[in-house]
Amino acid sequence: MHYVAGLLRRGLAFFLISLLAFLVGSLFSTEPASSPNQRFEFHDDIQALVLSLPDSFHYDQKLVPILAALAAAYPKALQALEIRSDQRLFICLAGQKFIYDDGITKTSEQRLDHPDIKDMFHDTYPLANPTDRLPKDFDPGRYRVDALFMALYGDSESAVASNCVVAEFCGNSVKFNARYGAADALRAVSAGLTPLLAQKPEIRSYVDKLAGTFNWRKVAGTESLSNHSFATAIDLNVKKAAYWRWVPPSQLETFSRKNWPTEIIETFERQGFIWGGKWWHFDTMHFEYRPEIIAYAKSAMTSAPKDKSGH
Ligand SMILES: [Zn+2]
Repeated sequence: MHYVAGLLRRGLAFFLISLLAFLVGSLFSTEPASSPNQRFEFHDDIQALVLSLPDSFHYDQKLVPILAALAAAYPKALQALEIRSDQRLFICLAGQKFIYDDGITKTSEQRLDHPDIKDMFHDTYPLANPTDRLPKDFDPGRYRVDALFMALYGDSESAVASNCVVAEFCGNSVKFNARYGAADALRAVSAGLTPLLAQKPEIRSYVDKLAGTFNWRKVAGTESLSNHSFATAIDLNVKKAAYWRWVPPSQLETFSRKNWPTEIIETFERQGFIWGGKWWHFDTMHFEYRPEIIAYAKSAMTSAPKDKSGH
């Protein structure tokens, strides 16, 4: 009892000293009180949200399409924007806050290990098929802010496991994350592929034996979690796969993606998946659910001036 009373007395003394320090500080300090974060709530209009920010943020051409892609891909996840006292912009998404642009110029390896939200959209995913040779280190969608996907899908192996459901995929039962429409999107891919496989039995071998979905692990050679960690990626038949680590580095430049069945790629892309074959660091059996990357690619297609080849 004495102990508790002592604690209370000490607590009261601490409170009074703090109050005194605050009052003295307020009386004699000429510095303004440190400014709190400025918060801008998102309702349903991205343009209006960005226009409500200070002028300096209006010059970033990617900010509106990136926010629009995130809002479209992960319904109700985008909550607000915050500007810190150092003028850094944070995106409040799925209950967490993510720095939009850390201002650091990075190599592609550094972007893989320490991306910010803007880095995730560094390369625009090409929606055209078939794709052939790609510029060096062109890896659209390969840069991921792990903390964002942990907030969206589960922040540990067991948390992700509890969000998983069994989805039927071309005659296989696989575990896939049910959050943000991921498992439904995989089921829709399967429904799209079924008539296609009946029509073209020669492409059935790509999906008759799968190499896996849910697997909590880092991407080989990086600090970044694989999308398989979140049960939002699927590997098709490993016998049909080409992977950049399996070939000599000199072959990355000449690797052709043209022989991969376009119908399979397009069926996945229609449901918000990206294909690992469209990376310089190719992984052709790998598809991952990245609706924000597909949404951003679509907005870039409609806003970009048409190229000279007329595509
Ligand atoms: Zn994979």
